[in-house]
This record gives sequence, structure tokens and C-alpha cells, in this order.
Amino acid sequence: MKKDQIFEFFRRLAELNPSPETELEFGNTYQLLVAVVLSAQATDVGVNKATRALFREVKTPQQMLDLGEEGLKQHIKTIGLFNSKAKNVIGLSQILVERYGGEVPEDRDALVELPGVGRKTANVVMNCAFGAETFAVDTHIFRVGNRTGLAKGKTPLAVEKQLEKKVPGPFRVGAHHWLILHGRYICKARTPECWRCPVVDLCAYKPKIMEKGAGRKAS
Ligand code: SF4
Repeated sequence: MKKDQIFEFFRRLAELNPSPETELEFGNTYQLLVAVVLSAQATDVGVNKATRALFREVKTPQQMLDLGEEGLKQHIKTIGLFNSKAKNVIGLSQILVERYGGEVPEDRDALVELPGVGRKTANVVMNCAFGAETFAVDTHIFRVGNRTGLAKGKTPLAVEKQLEKKVPGPFRVGAHHWLILHGRYICKARTPECWRCPVVDLCAYKPKIMEKGAGRKAS
């Protein structure tokens, strides 16, 4: 995709959704971090269902430690891998209390040191909580980047590097959300809905599915 096409791609997505936000529910940066850790291999909807009651009770790392690992498990047992996630959340809360005065550090290197926090999670927190120009490449962004030709790469890190290089200034903070939402609701994994896609003329993917119910499966 050429430079002016990339600008137009994001201009259109931005026009349709001027203030994109994560679909995870949270009340502060610590809760966002916990929600993102819980969302690995789980849906945002499933995480929100579990965290609504949890986050009424727990707003700080110290409160999470007071709740304890077993108490946390009771809240999140509907989420996949809840045993290891509970362990990680307690572990990261402990570190936040001991090293950071209960605050979430605004630093990717410090974030990835926390249990259960990888580069993608750190990028989400940096972007959503601190407004950093980070690109958290999940399955949706990986697919959309490769399909459209916007950011091609064999690994999430390669796609992230391409996005860092190519996303134009005005769209760098929102790009992560626009791409996720585009992948989740239009450029879907099995059947991309090209017939209602706002960037259809800019996208390099072939063959496009231009008729609803055409039944053609995309790879
Ligand atoms: S045209 Fe189709 S493949 Fe391309 S971005 Fe839109 S939905 Fe995805």
C-alpha cells in the first residue's frame, strides 16, 4: 500500500469512529492491566463479565493482594487459563506494591518484567492508558495488516515494526483500535465482509468477497 493510500485508509476508519476505545471495561490503569492479562486467549466480552464484580471490589494492587489468589480465582473461573492468570495477577500486584508504590509503570521495559505481561499486553497498556504510539499486534491486526498489504510480516513483531514505520502521525495513537475493530467486525478471519468494507478500494487482498452469503472462505 502506498503512502497516500495508507493515509486514506486510516482517514476513513477514523471518520467512521472518531474516538475509538478498547472494548475491555476498566476504571483505572491498574484494572486495565489486569483486564488485558486476563484477556489472553479469551474474548473481551467474557473478561468483562468476570471483571465487573471483581473491579467493584478491587481497584488497587494492594486490594488484589488482600483478596488473595483463591479469592481471585472465584471471580475469574469462567475465563480460560484462570489458574495461571490468577497466579500472574497476584505476582504482578505484588511487584507493583513492592517496587512501584502501587502504580503501573509508564515504561514498556518495566511492564514486560511483570508476570503474564508480554510485549502485546505492554503495548495495549501503553497505548490505552498513557496514549503512547504503540501497536499491539493481536490476531486481528496481524491478519488485517497482512491481507490489506498495509503491514506485512511473518510474525507479530514484524507487523508491529511495519506499523511503526508506516502509520501516519495523526493516526498513530488510534491505529491499534481501528485495526482491531476493523478485523473483529468487518475483515473477519473466515469470511471478510468486503461488500461493506470502507477501505475495499485500497486493500490488496484477492479475491475479495463482494456478496453477502457468497460462502467463499478466505484464508
Ligand atoms: S476489502 Fe475485504 S479483505 Fe480487504 S480490508 Fe476490507 S474486508 Fe478485509
